[in-house]
This record gives sequence, C-alpha cells and structure tokens, in this order.
Amino acid sequence: MRNILIAGNWKMNGDTAGNAELVAGIIAGAPRSERVSLLVCPPYPYLSAVSSQLAGGAVSLGAQNVSEHEAGAFTGEVAPAMLRDCGCDYVIVGHSERRSLYGESSDVVARKFQAALDAGLRPILCVGETLEEREADRTEDVVDEQLNAVIEAAGIAAFGEAVVAYEPVWAIGTGKTASPGQAQDVHAHIRGVVAGHDPDVADRLLILYGGSMKGDNAAGLLSMPDIDGGLIGGASLKAEDFLAIAAAAAQL
Ligand code: PEP
Repeated sequence: MRNILIAGNWKMNGDTAGNAELVAGIIAGAPRSERVSLLVCPPYPYLSAVSSQLAGGAVSLGAQNVSEHEAGAFTGEVAPAMLRDCGCDYVIVGHSERRSLYGESSDVVARKFQAALDAGLRPILCVGETLEEREADRTEDVVDEQLNAVIEAAGIAAFGEAVVAYEPVWAIGTGKTASPGQAQDVHAHIRGVVAGHDPDVADRLLILYGGSMKGDNAAGLLSMPDIDGGLIGGASLKAEDFLAIAAAAAQL
C-alpha cells in the first residue's frame, strides 16, 4: 500500500507572523500516522524561517517553483541548490499558474524537473487540463503531452524520486472539485502511462489530486485506489482546514 502525502501550496500568501501561527498549528495537530505525511510549500522569502520551525519534526518543506539553471546571471531566479540549502526536500514544478501566467512550456517544466532532481529535491510535477480541453475530450491527450515531455527528458527512472499531481485547471481555486470518479480515471491513466515504461516505478509513484480539495470532500477522493494524497491551495492556509484533510487521510 502506498503512503499518503498531503501537501500545502501556500501560493503568494502569508507573512512572518501568520506563517509561524499556521506552522505551529499544523505541527500541533498533525495526525500521528505512519502512512500520512504532511508538506508545506511557502513563498521563497519564508522558506528558511519555516524550515527552522519545522526542524526535527515530521512535516516536510517544499518550494513552489525553481530555476532550471544551477547558478549565475539569472536575476530574480532561485536555484535548486538554494532550495536544498534552505531546507527544502520538495519543489512543485509545472503548476498550472506557472504554465498559464508565466508561459512555462512542458520543455521548461521538464528542465526544472531535472534540475530539481540533480540537486537532490523531489519534484512534484503538476499536470492537468483546462475546462475547454476536458469538454473537447482532450484530457488524456493534454496530460500525456505534459507527462511525456518529462519522461522523455528525464527518463522513467527519475519518477522513482518524483511525485505527480493531477490538477484539473477548472477545479483550482474555483470551488469546483473533480468527482472521485473523474479524478480516479485520470489518475489511473497517468499510472498506466508510467507503467507502460516501468511497472515498478508506476506502482510506487505517489499521484496527488489537486483542485478545491477540502475537509469535506477529501475522504471521497483519497479513498480512490490511484489517489495518493492532495496538493492543497486555499485549504492549506488555515491549520484547521489543512488538518481536516490530513485527518480524513489518516482515517483511511
Ligand atoms: C493548487 O493551486 O494547487 C490548488 C489545488 O488550489 P486549490 O486547492 O485552492 O484549488
């Protein structure tokens, strides 16, 4: 049985005092479960402070983005090794907001994925379709293109160190959640694509669902056989909301 990862993507939210309160709440209320792990992904400026607060505990730290480059003249960018240096174990790559608002192509995402791995970070690769693409029955094509770009660039073995997050764009921050059945179909498809290259890697791969996951819909989603956790936006900003999802996971 695979473990469950509940990851919070804080996006561009928070401040020093509020983060400290949020992290303290998460640490205090984290379920005591061997199977459920928690991860928080604050904005860059707060990584070191949150890392210090998490030190020695079970909650992991990740970043929301990373440069594809190692170092040098890339003003405003943050290198993978810097994230390691600040205590990160994970980094989100290819979030739909990065793809749509900052023009990140699947090739750029693949390079970020590889750069993260090279620095010893575990990339969380986000894939997912827009509403228009779903309505045109193109969900699997879109997910395949996003996934295959990374498989071709990094190789399937790299997925042994990675996490995939299926995030239908139409469900992110909208309050609309994919039904457990809709999400399961795409998760099973993703696992099938990976299994086509390496069944063992596919079997071990954590595939998270993201898109308006909350305490009251988490159990239904997380009980699906190919849904191994959640990437949580809005509901990761309050300890109570985030912990409600973690508690649902711990009860499975
Ligand atoms: C996200 O941005 O990754 C996300 C899933 O957001 P939300 O939970 O707010 O839909």
